[in-house]
Amino acid sequence: MLLNNLGYPRVGPKRELKFASENYWKGKVSRDDLFKTAADLRAYIWKTQAAANIDLIPCNDFSFYDIMLDMALLVGAIPERYQPVNKVAGNAEIDLYFAMARGYQKDGLDIVAMEMTKWFDTNYHYIVPEFKANQTFSLLSTKVFDEFKAAQQVLNRAPKPVLIGPISFLLLGKEKEKGFHRIDLLSKLLPVYTQILSQLQKDGAQWVQMDEPVLGLDISDKEKQAFEVAYTALFKACPKLKFIITTYFEELDDNLSVALKLPVTALHVDLVRAPQQLDKVLNDLPSHMSLSLGVIDGRNIWKNDYKKSLHLIEKAIAKIGKERVMIAPSCSLLHTPFDLDFEIELKSEIKNWMAFSKQKLTEMNELREILNGKTNYLEANQSAIESRRTSPLIHRQDVKQRVAAITDADAKRKSPFPKRQEIQSKKLKLPMFPTTTIGSFPQTAEVRSWRAKFKKGTITKEEYEQLVEKETERCIRIQEEMDLDVLVHGEFERNDMVEYFGEQLDGFVFTLNGWVQSYGSRGVKPPIIFGDVKRPFDMTVRWSSYAQSVTKRWMKGMLTGPVTILQWSFVRDDQPRSETAYQIALAIRDEAVALEKAGIHVIQIDEPAIREGLPLRRSKWNEYLNWAVKAFRVSSSGVRDETQVHTHMCYSEFNDIMEHIAAMDADAITIETSRSQMELLEAFEKINYPNEIGPGVYDIHSPRIPSKEEIISLLEKASAILPPRNVWVNPDCGLKTRGWKETDAALRNMVAGAKYMRSKFCGNGN
Ligand code: GLN
Ligand code: ZN
Repeated sequence: MLLNNLGYPRVGPKRELKFASENYWKGKVSRDDLFKTAADLRAYIWKTQAAANIDLIPCNDFSFYDIMLDMALLVGAIPERYQPVNKVAGNAEIDLYFAMARGYQKDGLDIVAMEMTKWFDTNYHYIVPEFKANQTFSLLSTKVFDEFKAAQQVLNRAPKPVLIGPISFLLLGKEKEKGFHRIDLLSKLLPVYTQILSQLQKDGAQWVQMDEPVLGLDISDKEKQAFEVAYTALFKACPKLKFIITTYFEELDDNLSVALKLPVTALHVDLVRAPQQLDKVLNDLPSHMSLSLGVIDGRNIWKNDYKKSLHLIEKAIAKIGKERVMIAPSCSLLHTPFDLDFEIELKSEIKNWMAFSKQKLTEMNELREILNGKTNYLEANQSAIESRRTSPLIHRQDVKQRVAAITDADAKRKSPFPKRQEIQSKKLKLPMFPTTTIGSFPQTAEVRSWRAKFKKGTITKEEYEQLVEKETERCIRIQEEMDLDVLVHGEFERNDMVEYFGEQLDGFVFTLNGWVQSYGSRGVKPPIIFGDVKRPFDMTVRWSSYAQSVTKRWMKGMLTGPVTILQWSFVRDDQPRSETAYQIALAIRDEAVALEKAGIHVIQIDEPAIREGLPLRRSKWNEYLNWAVKAFRVSSSGVRDETQVHTHMCYSEFNDIMEHIAAMDADAITIETSRSQMELLEAFEKINYPNEIGPGVYDIHSPRIPSKEEIISLLEKASAILPPRNVWVNPDCGLKTRGWKETDAALRNMVAGAKYMRSKFCGNGN
């Protein structure tokens, strides 16, 4: 029984690769230094896996930025605009590579980066390959061969090269012109794959891992057929290679028969996301195929329940025999942090329930050892699982009972929107085209330094709070002076919109070093929700009521919604996600009610991540959207009719879930529209979106200052499509990452634009 690892986190135990890359970009370290850091890291990672007795150790899972970008370079899919980068003296392949990832703005060149998007339903972002109708491919990079040889030397045996399979590579890319479908490029792409694989075969490779995660998506018949064409050709060219078709994140479902027809040695399936598929897979598996069982969760940080995994493994062994079974993580370990041993501050009871990447390798090994008779591993594991199952740290009857008692009425405002709108407009007396912002104002280095000092203990809590209060008041004066209508306090007390709440809620813990790659050199350190979530005290009231006390204008309270908190954390695997979402929803609901009591009349509950949680298969969308929308409604429906609830969304395209967004029934939604202004507005129009809308009138992701005229032209578009009295005027996201200078200029133009619209509609600027 082979232990088959699919991939390992590459930034390094102490994020060495991140710092080396960033220093290389700044010109602070040489190319050779960067390469040395990378080579040392890879060797370390291979040795770690060998020490854990992993049989199939991946290579080429390493990447300086992203694996899809690596593939694009490998097969020569380089967009034309990067050609000049190659001609700059001194530039090497790596500079072309980073130019594609990050854009290139020197040597008199100004070339934009390739698009980046989320890797399935993870928080990892990949670079989207670009294709043209006359696209050509050619073998361009030697990275995979170099890494293969290096690993061979370190391990004294052949590693397992990892490639994104040709069908996933094409389907996850994008056509950059009309008139063709990217799958039609397969016949041009296959010869290059053949070349790569033949070379690997020649170099001594035995196993190769072909990642085809699109087998977990809804794909067309034509795309299904492409699989057979591709793998028949590749197998014919390299009959000695043992291909493992690797799927993850979803069950194969109607694509199972496609996978089982392929001339490959093994199939990998994700049994954490979709254990229910095992019976069918075992039943239909042809006798020449082995099965790699993804039983260790590659997407979460919990200890594996050996009993559950053994049940699946033993079932497979009984059906197809030991020789054809492999033990594996559900997907690449890229999505879990490096090593739990670094977490010296975690409570030991809680730490004992967890496993990071390094510990997951050990788990694979122990599962095999147990099957070989070493049952003491099983005992130790089950005692940890049992301690978690019954721990009073996790289970709080009052929280569970409250969730169980949620009624439909709890998920509904008292009156329907038209009535609320009337009450609110009488109370708030806002002008037409009211202006507001999304919540945060620039988090300068200075603001961040106060928090760092407070955490280190070099300033007291009182001193810290005084500094934040002063900055908040300054920010309010600026907003008043700009003449914004609904003000915000600026969020200077927050490090991050999820962490800030997690730190104050029961049921969360935080790590010191639990980084996972988000994109390129950027990582996130998600909070861990380990237990029932409860709000022990007010979380934001102090800041919001202070802010309201220094101004006569309306102050908007600022909360993060339950779905976003859930989505950006490592969550419990011992209860459905919906259950955890409802627990968070109740905590946020109580906070909203507390804000209302403290005199806050406009409350925003941000849900930027609501779309990210969508299942990969459309057939499962409704089930998710039903509870996600309900969780939001539970969080927002505790307040009175006269309290205006806003929500905010960004980072995704929302056209296809518009009706569910309407069902959230927020009094106003501010939404990112900068990328496809008209399209999104039309989607609002199409469903007759009933409530108020603030389509972002400028893009905050760049320092560019929009002109008053630009803003007016967008507002004119918006008020032609939507009822003008429902239109808000705001930027498209928070201003946290911007500088004050551009923020000031942009917001003044925005207010001027709103005033122009007012005078047009009501004959005066107020
Ligand atoms: N209120 C948050 C802010 O303004 C919203 C951030 C977000 O949408 N990601 O920063
Ligand atoms: Zn946003």
